[in-house]
Amino acid sequence: MNETFLLIVIFVFGTMIGSFLNVVIYRLPRGKSVVFPSSHCTSCGYKIKWYENIPVFSYIFLKGRCKNCKTPISMRYPLIEVLTGFSAVAVYLKSGFSIESVFYFIFLCLIISIIFIDIDFRIIPDELNLIGFLTGLTFSLFREDFSILDAVIGSVVGAGFLYVVAYLYLKLRGIEGLGLGDVKMLAFVGTYLGWFGSLFTIFFGSVLGVLLGVGISLLKKKKYEGQLEIPFGPFLGVASVVYLFFGEKIKDFYFGGMM
Ligand SMILES: [Zn+2]
Repeated sequence: MNETFLLIVIFVFGTMIGSFLNVVIYRLPRGKSVVFPSSHCTSCGYKIKWYENIPVFSYIFLKGRCKNCKTPISMRYPLIEVLTGFSAVAVYLKSGFSIESVFYFIFLCLIISIIFIDIDFRIIPDELNLIGFLTGLTFSLFREDFSILDAVIGSVVGAGFLYVVAYLYLKLRGIEGLGLGDVKMLAFVGTYLGWFGSLFTIFFGSVLGVLLGVGISLLKKKKYEGQLEIPFGPFLGVASVVYLFFGEKIKDFYFGGMM
């Protein structure tokens, strides 16, 4: 098959999964089933027909509005579909058609869902962290570079380290800076990335968070107090994805070929 055509097929497949992630992101934190009922307008309840639910295209075709009540549909829906499409392509370019690719894609889908739910609700659903943890452990059974012990150690180191940071932050500042959801998220991420990847995710996520915090303070012309009014999960998520794709290079750079 023509390589370009193959990439397009993989991209389209990704956007379809992205369409499902939109449902997860909307319904899971609201305590609704992600399976039933079928897609409907959140404003008027209009049942969306299958041909009005084609990723990205339907949004353009319907000009970003519900067909029935004309309520604007958030730009975020097609964006998440496109993002998931690119994730599928990126995973394919990294690992081709392989068992690794299946698990890497599951990892990215979970991270995308976590990022947007945390932005909306400041929570990370236990269900997503648990699925991540279990699939990470399962994945370790198929990996040559990684044993189930590496997965467990990654999980314990990541969650343990973040838990200590959260505890100290609470003790020192008297306010809750990190949620237990972030700690559980590291328990999931660690099963995929190992102990070094866990620590990288925490450090790099913190750097990104502080940079954005400083950026926002500069824009608002306020002194940066080291206090983020933004959730931490999205930064951890972005950092973990950076490590997923560039972990080997980061490790080589850090250890200078010692390992
Ligand atoms: Zn409607």
